[in-house]
Amino acid sequence: DFGVHSPTWLSRFTDMTRQAAAYRDRRVLLAGDAAHVHPPMGGQGLNIGVQDAVNLGWKLAQVIKGISPESLLDSYHAERHPVAARVLRNTMAQVALRRTDDRSKALADTVAELLGMDEPRKKIAAEMSGLCVHYDLGEGHPLLGRRMPDLDLTTAGGPLRVFTLLHDARPVLLNLGEPGRLNIAPWAERVRQIDAGYAGIWDLPALGSVVAPDAVLIRPDGYVAWAGAGTQRGLVDALTTWFGPPAAAG
Ligand SMILES: Cc1cc2nc3c(=O)[nH]c(=O)nc-3n(C[C@H](O)[C@H](O)[C@H](O)COP(=O)(O)OP(=O)(O)OC[C@H]3O[C@@H](n4cnc5c(N)ncnc54)[C@H](O)[C@@H]3O)c2cc1C
Repeated sequence: DFGVHSPTWLSRFTDMTRQAAAYRDRRVLLAGDAAHVHPPMGGQGLNIGVQDAVNLGWKLAQVIKGISPESLLDSYHAERHPVAARVLRNTMAQVALRRTDDRSKALADTVAELLGMDEPRKKIAAEMSGLCVHYDLGEGHPLLGRRMPDLDLTTAGGPLRVFTLLHDARPVLLNLGEPGRLNIAPWAERVRQIDAGYAGIWDLPALGSVVAPDAVLIRPDGYVAWAGAGTQRGLVDALTTWFGPPAAAG
């Protein structure tokens, strides 16, 4: 018998499913498993924990630097709590589907048949991979509050991938229209502006193709704070909400 022996580390997990009621109480912030725990089905826990941190990091930095008011931190709970609540729901459902009684097996077979169809499979895959997260940032272009796709852009300096623009963890205003037409001088120190072109289709996970915007304001966490299609309406409000009030002309 070569059974397991002399472990250097032991852990355990259960189907425990819990979520903190509030992710922020004044100076105390919760992220990762401290904020939400659930069964490991689908490998989603670390994924959403890292996304909590990425959502919170730039907001904390802006508040600490005095760029944004403390109220910006409340958007962390508002955005991230519903995401984990859905993960708790889908992992609880997966626990139920793994039961071995006849009724649960019949339910699992029925769900498997549904997942054989394109639409439900894409929806569940987008949900479990975290690619269909949609923060409620109000009415507007379908990109608003969604993760910016990693497009291949063309610029005067050569080809450019959108996600490389996020490596600096700074906001980006992507101008896909006439170069130089957007004036964001009061935010120039905080928001990087890029003139670029993109000729392909805008295809979003679970949503499909959407109308091509001519400008997109991307937060440091990769989510779209504003998207314009033929108008700049709302751009100044979005810049102020997410990246602080305009700097005084100097
Ligand atoms: C079997 C299993 C499989 C999994 N598979 C996946 C997967 O495939 N994909 C995925 O995305 N997720 C997966 N997860 C979930 C993932 O492991 C967790 O969601 C993730 O590790 C949580 O990270 P965390 O940093 O929030 O918490 P933790 O990893 O728990 O880190 C917290 C750290 O804080 C330390 N600590 C606690 N108290 C104190 C203290 N008072 N002072 C100092 N340090 C302290 C702890 O020792 C620990 O190192 C799995 C989980 C399990 C159980």
